[in-house]
Amino acid sequence: MAIKASEFVWHSGRLVPWEDAKIHVMSHVVNYGSSVFEGIRCYHTAKGPAIFRLRDHTLRLLQSCKIYRIDVDYSLDELVQATVDLVAANKVAPCYIRPIVLRGYGQVGVNPFNSPTEVYIANYEWGKYLGSPDSDDGVDVCVSSWNRLAPNTMPTMAKAGANYMNSQLIKMEAILNGYAEGIALDVAGYVSEGSGENVFVVHKDRIFTPPLGNSVLPGITRNSVLHLAHELGIPVVEQIIPREMLYICDELFFSGTAAEITPIRSVDKIIVGRGIAGPITKAVRKEFYSIVNGVTEDRFGWMTMVPVQVKQPVTV
Ligand code: PMP
Repeated sequence: MAIKASEFVWHSGRLVPWEDAKIHVMSHVVNYGSSVFEGIRCYHTAKGPAIFRLRDHTLRLLQSCKIYRIDVDYSLDELVQATVDLVAANKVAPCYIRPIVLRGYGQVGVNPFNSPTEVYIANYEWGKYLGSPDSDDGVDVCVSSWNRLAPNTMPTMAKAGANYMNSQLIKMEAILNGYAEGIALDVAGYVSEGSGENVFVVHKDRIFTPPLGNSVLPGITRNSVLHLAHELGIPVVEQIIPREMLYICDELFFSGTAAEITPIRSVDKIIVGRGIAGPITKAVRKEFYSIVNGVTEDRFGWMTMVPVQVKQPVTV
């Protein structure tokens, strides 16, 4: 999907024109992948733009920085406010928000400590990533021949740009073989996650998802699914999942900022359940969209309203 340029990008405390948000080719990040980032959605509701779990995403960004010993000059509150200010200035919703912290232009060599830290936040119009919100057709996926990152190599609890080299291998293989997405196993052969989504298995009226120890990103949407399932009275178990559960389970779905809640129709050409979104997937998805679209009360305090009238709400 092509990026639709907005007017401004937030760069280290200032709003700069979109075209001016540039870095040098010899920046540390270009050579050694030294960046961490977030992906956040802002929905268009009747009361105006509403950002989903902004504080939690920003906290994960700062935790990714902590893991990589990146000192950030801005507090959680400042970055949250900067994001709201940016969305208000650009006046586009629904949109995707991309905060990035990177090691910039300074010194050569792997040692990152002497390259300056730069913080950017961009936002731009964005619609669906995988399936469609109302469709009960799921996506067709494969189990990837690529494993997820091995423990103690690249930390998967950090959302680092470099992790997405692994995600790209998973995604390219899936697409070239005619699938929408790939599900990767961890190095022990257990279900881990998609290239950019967490995975949920529904089996005998319970929801299963791999625990954080199976090389998964602690997804904010994953956490939201856990809350919603709890509220709906559906038992959720964070448990190691063998690959073959993907083939014999009743329902299967992805969660993620981009993917939202996307049902999975088949895995390696084996139809999941009845081949359409099942009742538990639909129940969780319904609650999720009701909250993010501002249709039901935001009882979890997940939405940050942006006090601005958008130029022209985009239909997605
Ligand atoms: N796993 C990976 C590898 C991802 O890139 C993402 C998207 N950020 C997710 C899971 C889902 O996380 P979230 O719900 O926070 O978007």
